[in-house]
Amino acid sequence: MNLIFKKKSYKFVLSTKVKNSKTTYLTKSGWIIKLTSNDKKIGFGEVSPLLEDELKNCAKQLNMIPEHVKVFNLFEQINIFHPCIQSAINSALAEINGKIIFKDNYYFDEIDKTAILLNSENVISDLNEIKKKQSNIGKSVTIKWKVGLKKNHEEEAILEEILSQIDNNIKLRLDANGSWGRKIANRWADILKDNKNIDWLEQPLCFDDLDGLNDLNKKIPIALDESLLKFPTLIDEWEGWQIRRPSQENNPVKLLRELENKKALISISTSFETGIGRRWLYHLSSLQLQGPTPKVPGLAINKFPNSFLFLNDAKKIWDQL
Ligand SMILES: [Mg+2]
Repeated sequence: MNLIFKKKSYKFVLSTKVKNSKTTYLTKSGWIIKLTSNDKKIGFGEVSPLLEDELKNCAKQLNMIPEHVKVFNLFEQINIFHPCIQSAINSALAEINGKIIFKDNYYFDEIDKTAILLNSENVISDLNEIKKKQSNIGKSVTIKWKVGLKKNHEEEAILEEILSQIDNNIKLRLDANGSWGRKIANRWADILKDNKNIDWLEQPLCFDDLDGLNDLNKKIPIALDESLLKFPTLIDEWEGWQIRRPSQENNPVKLLRELENKKALISISTSFETGIGRRWLYHLSSLQLQGPTPKVPGLAINKFPNSFLFLNDAKKIWDQL
C-alpha cells in the first residue's frame, strides 16, 4: 500500500497548570499526522510526547519520514523511532484499515464519568467544591490527588483531612509519580490498606523498583504508570492495575485488543491529547467500562481550553490547524 504522509504541529495552553512531583505542565505541544492510502482512505494520528527532550527528538524523526511512502518502508523506518511517533502512525493505519471505528459521541464530559484531578495547591477547597457538585448529581465520583509535591508530614495531614471528609460515594486515587521511597510508600500503604475509598496507589516508587512495587501490591492495589512506559513487557507480566496511555504506547491496537478481550485491571489515562488522540481515549475508555473491572478513566477533562483542537471531528481539526 502506498501512503501520503502529512503532519501539522500544534500548541495549546492548559486551562490551569498541572503539577506532579516531577514537573509542571502549562502548555502542550505535539503534531497531528494524516495518512492517505492509494484508495483514498484517511487515518489521523497524534504525536503527543510529554517532555521537552522528547519533543525535540520527535521533531527530528518526523522530518525524516517522506511524504510519499510505502507502508512496508514506513514500518521499517519507524521501528526505532520514539514510541509516540509509532503510536500516531499505528493509530492512523488502524483507522485506515478499519481496525478501529469511532463513534460520533462518547459522553465523558459529566463529572461522574472521569476522575477529577484535584488542584494540588488547594486540595481541600477543591474537594469541597466537588462535594457540592456531587450532592447535586447524587452519584459516586472519583478524585485523583498528585502527591510527593510537599513535605510528607504535610501531605499526611492533608490525607487525614480528606479521609475525614469523604463518604462511600467518593473514590480516591493517589499518584506519587515515582517520587516516594519504600519507607514513605509503606507508611501510606499501611494507612490506606483497609480503606474502602481507595482505588489504588499509582506509581508510588521509582519506575525501576519492581521488587518494592511487587511487595506493596500485596498490601494495597498498586497501579503502574511510568514503569510500563519504561518496561513495556510489564504490560503482559504485572499482576495489578495498569495505567495505560494509548498515545505513549508503540501500538495502541494492542491495548484495543486487550480491552476487546476483556482483560481486567486496566485504567485509561490522558497525556493531554487534542481531539484527534482523544478519540482513542474515549473509545478505549468506553470498552474499559464494559469490561470485568470498570473504573472511570483519567482524562483531565477540565484542563483543556475552549478551542477547535478539541472538536469531535478529526477532519475539522486538521483543516483548521
Ligand atoms: Mg500517573
